[in-house]
Amino acid sequence: MKIGFGISRTAGRIATFWLLLRLFGPLEVPAQSSNADLLLLNAHVVTMNEKQPSAQAIAIRGGRILWVGNTEEAERLYPRPAHAMDLHGATVLPGIIDAHAHLINLGQSLVRLNLKDIPTEKEIIERVKQRAASTAPDEWILGWGWDEGKWASHYPTKEALSAATPNNPVFLVGLHTFAAWANQRALELADIDKNTKDPENGKILRDEKTREPTGILLNRAQDLVARHIPPMTLAQTKRAMQLAASECVRNGLTSVDEARVTPLMVQAFHELVRDGQMPLRVYAMLDGADKDLVERWLKRGPEIDPHHQLTVRAFKLFADGALGSRGAALLEPYSDAPQTQGIMTTPESEVYSLTRRALEAGFQLCTHAIGDAANRAVLNAYEQAEKEVPNAHDPRLRIEHAQVLAPEDIPRFAKLGVIASMQPTHCTSDMAWAEQRLGPERVKYAYAWRSVKDSGAHLPLSSDFPGETLNPFYGIYAAITRQDPQGNPPGGWHPEQRLTREEALRGYTLEAAYGEFQENNKGSLEKDKLADLTVVSKDITKIPPAEILSVQVLKTFVGGKVVYDLGAHQ
Ligand SMILES: [Zn+2]
Repeated sequence: MKIGFGISRTAGRIATFWLLLRLFGPLEVPAQSSNADLLLLNAHVVTMNEKQPSAQAIAIRGGRILWVGNTEEAERLYPRPAHAMDLHGATVLPGIIDAHAHLINLGQSLVRLNLKDIPTEKEIIERVKQRAASTAPDEWILGWGWDEGKWASHYPTKEALSAATPNNPVFLVGLHTFAAWANQRALELADIDKNTKDPENGKILRDEKTREPTGILLNRAQDLVARHIPPMTLAQTKRAMQLAASECVRNGLTSVDEARVTPLMVQAFHELVRDGQMPLRVYAMLDGADKDLVERWLKRGPEIDPHHQLTVRAFKLFADGALGSRGAALLEPYSDAPQTQGIMTTPESEVYSLTRRALEAGFQLCTHAIGDAANRAVLNAYEQAEKEVPNAHDPRLRIEHAQVLAPEDIPRFAKLGVIASMQPTHCTSDMAWAEQRLGPERVKYAYAWRSVKDSGAHLPLSSDFPGETLNPFYGIYAAITRQDPQGNPPGGWHPEQRLTREEALRGYTLEAAYGEFQENNKGSLEKDKLADLTVVSKDITKIPPAEILSVQVLKTFVGGKVVYDLGAHQ
């Protein structure tokens, strides 16, 4: 439905007026009949709309874009907007969409006490004490980041920590996760005392005289405590999501596709959206491995939000593991471990059966596939399911990562209408060792965005945060350079697979919107689309690639509302 064409009599009259204008008059908007809630002026607008690639001004009403054009015309057409904002030449991009991410994990890392770079035991204990003051008794205090490498010759002990926090179990994991520092409450809850034996591959550090545990647990001994940490509550989940969402809008993101959603997360998202506490739009992929969740949603059908805040219409499956740990399923053995080919974590038959049922019920499937064998199996499963459900309307089945592909499988994406949802920074994080795993031939079709794009497939781009940075400009930089942030290797790693800037930006806007069935509402700045905008300090279509890394997000708008403003944070 278009804004202003509602069912009220006034709206009816406006509609008639419009019709008359279309029939008899020049198609020009009379200023008085279409006032704007917000007018953005003097900007450099990159619209991603081929018919009008650039502009200087945007008029917004009712959360949507009313008009796009130049500043002079804007002032003439909308002389009395409710608000006007001079953007002083800043660049406005369509709101950036991260097509594959994990708000929940980012949130968890933000909820934990961050102890990185805090130099002394005393200061760390002070931070923990402060946190304890705002934490309910018996609730766990979790932290991370003290440097177990640097402190290895003089590890801290539980004594001062326990004295400072007698009412809360405390568990502080080291920077590299090889050691953890626990207080007495945590050790008691885990039944660790001087009689506890060291587990396999782990060590409980002990006082030389009394044999009492000192509070430092090395390697697998950390599990003895970690397994007593209760799962997150609804309140904690909501808090984590909110913290993550704030980080997202600070980085210019306006929508995120959450790539595995549990029942608790669905509830958290629903409540946050209901209470107006979720600043960005969320596209949820339900955990396809949770059988109860799957059955419930297949019966209930997709939930497509008319306000585009929270949409639940996809399932997420994992076909295999990761390349680094050699869990990715390959067609031929690993080049650096000839005895292994990785492993399928969901067999092709199961991917097929859920896809078929999902298509029948109007859901999308998004399947994680890294290795060429996993990608082939998922393509086979999708092909068969699409054949069996010929009346499935617009399936848009997705493969998440599509990281290593057999060259003969690449054209199948476009042929089957399968979306390749890829992550540019995965390439630049893995490029140091990817060839060891794959050898010189297979690596040519790893992270092969150019080949995938040229085959005609849809190519949404994303970060997969928090494993990688959520800053989308690092992703755009990686996509167009195939270099790390220091500019290595010179010329780029397999530079024949680079994307152009326009293609990379398209991946984070229109293509990502397509991946969530939203290309008519999001992804470009044109009339009637949602007023989701990312305002940045530099024109990323022109500056040297290295400068893209230092682009600052000035403002983020979702539905015409400012959800982040750098000016307000300075
Ligand atoms: Zn992921």
